[in-house]
Amino acid sequence: LASRELQKEDTIFDIGPVTIGGNRVVVIAGPCAVESREQIIESALAVKKAGAVILRGGAFKPRTSPYSFQGLGEEGCRYLKEAGELTGMPVATEIVSPNDADMMKEYIDIFQIGARNMQNFELLKKVGSMGMPVILKRGMSATIEEWLMAAEYLLSSGTEKVILCERGIRTFETMTRNTLDLSAIPVVQKLSHLPVIVDPSHGTGLRDKVLPMALAGVAAGANGLIIEVHPDPEKASSDGPQSLYPEQFEKLMCDLETLSSVV
Ligand code: PEP
Ligand code: MN
Repeated sequence: LASRELQKEDTIFDIGPVTIGGNRVVVIAGPCAVESREQIIESALAVKKAGAVILRGGAFKPRTSPYSFQGLGEEGCRYLKEAGELTGMPVATEIVSPNDADMMKEYIDIFQIGARNMQNFELLKKVGSMGMPVILKRGMSATIEEWLMAAEYLLSSGTEKVILCERGIRTFETMTRNTLDLSAIPVVQKLSHLPVIVDPSHGTGLRDKVLPMALAGVAAGANGLIIEVHPDPEKASSDGPQSLYPEQFEKLMCDLETLSSVV
């Protein structure tokens, strides 16, 4: 179902006022985690002002350490919905357990499957069956074929609205958090009709590398970007070092506009 052989034209679909796919570049932005009502509203206002069209924020955080901030759960989903309504943006958040799906659909517009759960097949089947848009991140050691087969689980379970997200893979390199595999974009676009976006925040793990790799992703043909932005990154409870200051995000949006008129 994900294959270009079966469907020649690009998949294009609407999420509220936003159209994904085709020649558009859609920017999704917000903090790694929803930390409080005030923090997500402040983030939403900042990213909206700069030109983002979808708000992201994690309510369930899959952290390496069980002692790290795990997210606000349903309360976080509630604040996210409020911030999305206030700014007129659809909202995306990660799901980590099939048991949360029915609760979450009351608050959110887009489910995100994280890199760590890309091959959590029971989760994929449940999320697919909701029929809602899904951002499917590439697993950190997943081949493109495995990633597309994970998309196949979503599509065969009942949703047509799958967005693939390249977020960097694990390599021997340690200077960046992950190695952003930009060649995956043209490879995927040849094999599949699904939209593909780039996450330069997790792809590099470093704030000052986010701008160049965001531009590179768009130059490579990505249908969108997902960027972590925090009103006060130094105080972020997760992924502070890779989160942009609102001013940096504004700069990114300006540079993106210049680039888009070139490519
Ligand atoms: C995230 O988007 O905050 C996240 C945890 O991403 P990934 O699953 O790509 O690590
Ligand atoms: Mn994050």
